[in-house]
Amino acid sequence: MKNCPNCTETLSKTFTFCPTCGQETQLDHSVASLLTQFLNDYFTFDSKIIRSVLPLILKPAFLTTEYLKGRRVQYIAPLRLFIFISLIFFLLISWSNSGNVNAGEQVNGFNNAFWNRFFDSWLPKLFFVLLPLFALLISMLYRRQKRGMMPHFLFALHFHSSLFFMGIIYIVVSYVFGKLQWLIFNQVFLGLCGLYLAYYLWKSLRRMYGESRLKTSWKFITLCSLYTILLVASTFVLLLFSYNY
Ligand SMILES: [Zn+2]
Repeated sequence: MKNCPNCTETLSKTFTFCPTCGQETQLDHSVASLLTQFLNDYFTFDSKIIRSVLPLILKPAFLTTEYLKGRRVQYIAPLRLFIFISLIFFLLISWSNSGNVNAGEQVNGFNNAFWNRFFDSWLPKLFFVLLPLFALLISMLYRRQKRGMMPHFLFALHFHSSLFFMGIIYIVVSYVFGKLQWLIFNQVFLGLCGLYLAYYLWKSLRRMYGESRLKTSWKFITLCSLYTILLVASTFVLLLFSYNY
């Protein structure tokens, strides 16, 4: 038996990390350890990002099911991941928007002002309302599974992270296509992204809730229709409000 140098907790000899504060029990006093410590901190953070971000486009519902199974440390926490991705996404949108305005598209003053404000400041906030509504819709569609609200909310967080991550990829790729003057590829790529996103959501629902292809399909269609109606309706309300001012 010995004590943790950090928090003085009594430790068993077999422990490599202190169970109370998490610090290593064997401290290396060499100069080289400073460097390996830095590299470790840096690269575990890096691999954590890759491990959390790649499933957002490649493995439907993977992060959600991992979290629910209790495997959490090796991934970025769900809410943090969502905020991190949506921040980059909305920054990119407002950056690509300002590029369009500078290109001299100021024909219709009101429309431009509205859509700029919509994408720059309203849409990000709108999603903080829409996301819980998305979770609520799923909880209604899968109410027979009696899971409580948390898994559905988690699913909604991860799905919106995927949605925004694909949005980031689309903005970057379409910027490159634009620079190369391959504007036709933009349309094709947008279509492919839309199709893939639909497949990704369908597959996520199926992996997460384990129902048959047919049942999953009708729930998928119901979910997409209702969610689109919510999105269009809330955009319309914002449009009405801004006409009044
Ligand atoms: Zn300790």
